[in-house]
Amino acid sequence: MVPGASARPDAPAVLGADLEVPVKGGRLLPYANLDYAASAPCLAPVSAAVAAALPAYSSVHRGAGYASQLTTARYEQARHTVRAFVGARPGDAVVFTRNTTDASNLLARCLPGGTTVVVFETEHHASLLPWPDAVRLAPPAFAGEAVRAADEALAAIDGPALLVVTAASNVTGELWPIAALAHIAHRHGARILVDAAQLVPHRRLNLTALDLDYVSFSGHKLYAPFGAGALVGRADWLAEAEPYLRGGGASKAVTGGAGQGAPLSTEWSADPEQRHEAGTPNVLGAIALAAACDALSATGWTPLVKQEERLLTLLRDGIAAIDGVHELSLWGPGHPRVGIVSFVVDGWTAREVAEALSAEYGIGVRDGKFCAHPFVRHLLDAVGRSADGDCADGTTGAVRASIGIGTTEEHVLRLVAALSDLVSRR
Ligand code: PLP
Repeated sequence: MVPGASARPDAPAVLGADLEVPVKGGRLLPYANLDYAASAPCLAPVSAAVAAALPAYSSVHRGAGYASQLTTARYEQARHTVRAFVGARPGDAVVFTRNTTDASNLLARCLPGGTTVVVFETEHHASLLPWPDAVRLAPPAFAGEAVRAADEALAAIDGPALLVVTAASNVTGELWPIAALAHIAHRHGARILVDAAQLVPHRRLNLTALDLDYVSFSGHKLYAPFGAGALVGRADWLAEAEPYLRGGGASKAVTGGAGQGAPLSTEWSADPEQRHEAGTPNVLGAIALAAACDALSATGWTPLVKQEERLLTLLRDGIAAIDGVHELSLWGPGHPRVGIVSFVVDGWTAREVAEALSAEYGIGVRDGKFCAHPFVRHLLDAVGRSADGDCADGTTGAVRASIGIGTTEEHVLRLVAALSDLVSRR
């Protein structure tokens, strides 16, 4: 494979596709990166967009110079691209954040007084923890049960409410019924925040068609580098809340002060985007994020989804055929999912499996509880595994393999063969 090439000729090239890694015995193996759900490798067009922006590098919004104007135009174009990528409504705000965690924390600061948050315990900590007083719902036994549980919880709330739910689980890849949940939320006069961190790298998301109020996601899971994400959604709560950060850019005018003999007084920008993006923004991060959106849209979702489903079936069938490897699933093997599979291996801790896969087979996976501790505990209980203490450091959990644009059939078959091998050793 040529350096930087991706697995498929019609997909954008993935950087690092030609990486070789040392394994036991001093050999080098092509790296099988099966850890896309943690952070996806950067796409070549993303790297090119960042390189193209660097020569006109200057701070945005407040400069009259050419470089500042060009950088401002690129930054605002990135906002426009992100807006289109998620199918936002015309009046929606697109606030650039550091990542999904930052986006949910931002919204948590913007809730009108007295808002009750309802959240499933299956959430990633980024969406589970920003609301300490939330009503927490147990893992539902099937998708329809999720809708029923949300319905009951929201019916019991007086006043404003926000339902928080993931679109695709970072543990099982399972797709959540977000359209039905949005419908239920709205029937109760509530709003919905959808954590789309694991959906947007795999499926088209249309906020307007699904009638979602807010979505959050991270660039580094969407084939862009670290450091930029977005909160997209209804502008009113954002426009009325205290600025997320207090500082330049968020402030429209600062008057008074000791010299004026009057207390310092700040008029905050009424624009919800400026109001919550104080300080010099991560312009290159936003440009990279937008370039990733453009690259995925230009490829088209149909071939991406088709390829992913083919590899996912290969992986799941391969794992299911090994006596001693157990896939974790909330809603059963038939429920639709994106390219994320978590599993446990008899006789091995998750950490031992991940280390052996890396050291002996050149395969990168994730192990642990994937920042979704209550959910992983629940899933481990269901397969009769302890969630605690079977690793020396007291942390354990499951192994997670996740696929994306650069994944090849060889990567998947290598993982399946390696797991067979590991099982046969104990
Ligand atoms: N939500 C989901 C579903 C995730 O998988 C992750 C990251 O793993 C996050 C939120 C948090 O993303 P970030 O660490 O980029 O804030």
